[in-house]
Amino acid sequence: MAKAKKASTSAASSAGDAVDEQLARYRSMRDFKVTAEPSGGTKSKKPEALPFVIQKHAATRLHYDFRLGWNGVLKSWAVAKGPSYNVHDRRLAVQVEDHPMEYGGFEGIIPRGQYGGGTVMVWDQGTWEPHVDVDEGLRKGSLKFGINGTKMHGNWTLVRMGGKAAQEGKPNWLLIKEHDDFERGPDDPCITEEMPNSAVTGRTLEEIATASTHVWNSKETAGEGPAWYRDRARDADAASTSDKAASKPAAKPSAKTTSKASPKQAKSPPVVPAQIEKLPQEKLPDFLKPQLAGETTAPPAGDEWVHELKLDGYRVQARKHGNNVELYTRSGLDWTHRMKPIAEAVKQLAVEDAILDGEVCVLDDKGLSSFARLQASFEKNEKHPLTFFVFDLLHLNGHNTRPAAARTQSPLA
Ligand code: MN
Repeated sequence: MAKAKKASTSAASSAGDAVDEQLARYRSMRDFKVTAEPSGGTKSKKPEALPFVIQKHAATRLHYDFRLGWNGVLKSWAVAKGPSYNVHDRRLAVQVEDHPMEYGGFEGIIPRGQYGGGTVMVWDQGTWEPHVDVDEGLRKGSLKFGINGTKMHGNWTLVRMGGKAAQEGKPNWLLIKEHDDFERGPDDPCITEEMPNSAVTGRTLEEIATASTHVWNSKETAGEGPAWYRDRARDADAASTSDKAASKPAAKPSAKTTSKASPKQAKSPPVVPAQIEKLPQEKLPDFLKPQLAGETTAPPAGDEWVHELKLDGYRVQARKHGNNVELYTRSGLDWTHRMKPIAEAVKQLAVEDAILDGEVCVLDDKGLSSFARLQASFEKNEKHPLTFFVFDLLHLNGHNTRPAAARTQSPLA
């Protein structure tokens, strides 16, 4: 996880530190033979979470390298257009050679003239879960899996093309979204445009190319030598440039996608209560897959449960990054423009960075949520005030608050 930025730390070097941590994380997975097969029938061990990474790669042509960690390597496909949540899109995915596990944590530049020369961004990463036997699927050309990253969610398929395409030098596959809660329609924004920046450092491709603090040496990856180096002199250069930019009074407003490294270096660090301070540190995530309700035959009992009235509204995730607030639907669509008063209210909260999980409702005369009124206010332009019931805090000021136990009273209890 990325270290929280301290006031004394420059944006450039904290991005560099985050990349170092990623490289170390992937390196640690290199020797461990990840496999989802149950081990010998002795114990039904839960399969290890398998890592995946998608690297946005500005080489001769921009493409997305889709990589699934399997048996200590990254099985790799180059997807020219990147993934699409539209189930009707079939994205050409050309299988390329397996990559070393450590490469999955790499964000930086590969010198011109080397294999893959250009700029590399960790566009997404997380875990994947095969729904079929992986080795057989790779052999037969059909791999179905679930994926859980910051941008990638739900069920996907990789299928190898037959016929003429199969005769080509590199196997051509198609990356296809399967029907589920996360799929998007043809008019919905495409994820590559909606969330263009790094999942690890929040940087744009240009920012990564300009900092170029991490350089991958593809000539060394076959041997045991160091595959990459970090240029700390460039860290310092980038830091002094960004400090200058930050102190300029007429600084450019930050880009619309807020996942950039925070430019507010001069500000004092936000106050974090002691119990939050103990929670793991992380970079503010782009979007977190919300936990959905499940069905049971009887309600659970005991002190660790609170019972709440069911709210009939829209599940909304509010992401506050400084003065920038975005509101996402449960499938990750940006609905900020449709609920501006809620965004404005979240903006007023006295926290720097936060992700709130809740439900946006319209209340009827008895104070109960009315889905009919909510729909009327969105579709018939009726003016009903919106209420945002927040039931969880998923991130606060550089800390992952998801592992923390809820010790709160329900607002409606
Ligand atoms: Mn590539």
